[in-house]
Amino acid sequence: MTETTNLYIDGEWVPAEDGSTFAVENPADTSETVAEYAKGSTEDAQKAIDAANEAQGDWEAMPAPDRGAILRETGAVLEERKEALTEQLSREEGKTLSEAGGEVQRAIDIFYYYASKAADNAGKRKGPSGGRTSVYTKREPLGVAGLVTPWNYPIAIPAWKIAPALATGNAIVLKPASAAPGPAGSIVQALEDAGLPDGVINFVPGSGSDVGAELTSNDGIDAVSFTGSSEVGHHVYDAATDNMARAQAEMGGKNPAIITDSADVDEAVDIVGAGAFGVTGQACTACSRAIVHTDVYDEFVEGIVEYAESIDIGPGTEDPGMGPHVTQSELESTLEYVDVAANEGATHETGGERLEGDEYDDGYYVTPAVFSDVERDMRIFQEEVFGPVLAVTEVDDFDDAIEAANDSDYGLSSSVVTDDLNEAYEFVERTEAGVAKVNEKTTGLELHVPFGGVKDSSTNTYREQGDAGLDFFTEIKTVYLNT
Ligand code: NDP
Repeated sequence: MTETTNLYIDGEWVPAEDGSTFAVENPADTSETVAEYAKGSTEDAQKAIDAANEAQGDWEAMPAPDRGAILRETGAVLEERKEALTEQLSREEGKTLSEAGGEVQRAIDIFYYYASKAADNAGKRKGPSGGRTSVYTKREPLGVAGLVTPWNYPIAIPAWKIAPALATGNAIVLKPASAAPGPAGSIVQALEDAGLPDGVINFVPGSGSDVGAELTSNDGIDAVSFTGSSEVGHHVYDAATDNMARAQAEMGGKNPAIITDSADVDEAVDIVGAGAFGVTGQACTACSRAIVHTDVYDEFVEGIVEYAESIDIGPGTEDPGMGPHVTQSELESTLEYVDVAANEGATHETGGERLEGDEYDDGYYVTPAVFSDVERDMRIFQEEVFGPVLAVTEVDDFDDAIEAANDSDYGLSSSVVTDDLNEAYEFVERTEAGVAKVNEKTTGLELHVPFGGVKDSSTNTYREQGDAGLDFFTEIKTVYLNT
């Protein structure tokens, strides 16, 4: 019998008021229920918001180094539990153990990073225009933050929202994605064990349309930080800003990698393959378009097909090259895009089949797919698939490549593979993306630098991570002090 993880409201693990629960199955073997969660309602979310408002003042008043010490201890608790957390993440979301372990480590590092930042965020002193006036800025927390997170990085994304919000003196209500809420719950458990005062963080799994909507529209919420799809993100942003809350929404991507004629093709294949098929293509920064110079096109296509076909697929807990999709609907969506691409006239080079037989029958497995001869007006070039599907497009020259890469509603991450320094700089100047990478895959982010996109990938308000994470969760008071 699976134990139920309850809601966490005002320092207590409590069932949902109406007693509802929901189960999460293992995407590698759907006959296994991994965990059961209390399913919060709008009323539960309201209670959590009230508790956060009650607790926030004392938390803000706690000296910043003491807040930092709690975050540091949380990092240590997570570190002690790393192995179990890695297994939990792999079993709920499907990632391989290597991928899950890397993500858990990232969450640990994020807590250590913001622990050291907590005391360092007071503001800046400026020279006065005259007299003995002290002119300085003071950073103050916004109040209560509603955090809404997706399933695809179920521990790292909650961590990179929670840690800066707490470091700066905000209280939190967190709604994790229903497909994989466990890792976020484990962070909350670690915070409790590290001594976080009651009510400062509240955890309410439940549906997006109930709990999520309440967190983005309730008057008791001062800041909303959302990561997820563009469709929901736009709605969340409108609801939050209508309510005068500060809002950021990080959304989808259709991330290109340009392969120039000077590129080392073997290196390009490794960079694109890792970006496209890592984490089963379920990353907002996944590479889904390879835009390849005609002189190296055939060699690249041959190499990337070989790369895709060499990936071994299996349950994440066996640490293969690639795990399953997270849910049936994500699997179906990927299979549908494979049909769409073929019907649009792209050349189906390999993959995109559901794996069947033996260990595969009960899981959401698909083989990594490559389409070549993809034209810019095809849906497979324009729409986010969120699965291991790569579209390869041939271009005549560098200008053409940049134009094709920018021909997208999204602008999250982009990459170029080149041996030409001028092309590298030109790419950095002209790419329309929040993250520009030279000779590096589109996925993979450093935690101490800002992250976010342009166009439909982001609301273009505030970046996340690094110092930008602290900026989002604080407002500035400007002080003129005369004595
Ligand atoms: P969704 O937009 O479906 O869900 C994201 C979160 O929003 C979930 O917690 C969901 O709850 C909740 N939600 C759903 N409806 C509402 C609503 N009406 N009001 C408030 N909250 C709501 O995205 P996915 O979880 O499917 O994540 C995949 C998407 O996330 C991809 O498009 C990907 O590109 C994007 N992403 C972006 C990143 C970035 O930093 N730019 C990073 C990672 C992913 P529930 O789960 O209960 O439905």
